[in-house]
Amino acid sequence: MLGTGILKGMAVTAKNFVGSYHDSEHPLTTSEYPEQRIAPKENARQFPFLVHDTEDAMKGLRCVACQICEKECPPQCIYIVKSKDKRADYKGQMQLYPVTFDIDLSVCMSCQICVEVCPFEAIKMDTEFELSNTDRFGGLLVNKHQLAKPNEHYRKIHPTEAAVSDASLAVEVAKAQAKAKADVEAKAKAAAEAKAKAEAAAAAGPIGTAPTAPAPKPTAPAAASAAPPAA
Ligand code: SF4
Ligand code: SF4
Repeated sequence: MLGTGILKGMAVTAKNFVGSYHDSEHPLTTSEYPEQRIAPKENARQFPFLVHDTEDAMKGLRCVACQICEKECPPQCIYIVKSKDKRADYKGQMQLYPVTFDIDLSVCMSCQICVEVCPFEAIKMDTEFELSNTDRFGGLLVNKHQLAKPNEHYRKIHPTEAAVSDASLAVEVAKAQAKAKADVEAKAKAAAEAKAKAEAAAAAGPIGTAPTAPAPKPTAPAAASAAPPAA
């Protein structure tokens, strides 16, 4: 019969509407925002932020200004300027860092590609969405100071992902420490071997000289053996 589908749909809507007041298992699916807020889901994503590990946000940024995210961002809304000098990263290795790291959030499409391509766990997706403001052109152009957030924030909003990220970084740090230790031991061993060789060479004498012959026995003075002159 014509219109059966519409009637069925309206019946489902009416059942849910009335049921939402009486059925505790199917409460209202809407909330009166902004007075009422629902807790963000763990897999919610809005815009990127930069992770830092130390209290000084700028010194603790994980970003090494490799610019991969800048190249891969589809709408090209990331702008990075690399440093000329280097500083130690979380593994103790000397790395460049971003002098400038801007994202134009008015262009960002929340695709998360920057997060996927970052090899350093340095950029993650935030759940913050209330960013509206009255400045149409510059209000959503955010710099590295505004983008920097501690790793604790990442653990709080995406605990499962953050645990995987922390474990991966811990493995990297352990590898870097083991390599540094092996390098120090190899250098110490090489130095000890060089020292032993030098000592052996010194004991053997100067290179290229024949061993010294034993000293000749002293001969009797010629005068003693000769006959005294005739008077
Ligand atoms: S989420 Fe997508 S659009 Fe936004 S900065 Fe990252 S790569 Fe660019
Ligand atoms: S956020 Fe990651 S991919 Fe982007 S420049 Fe920094 S280290 Fe490279």
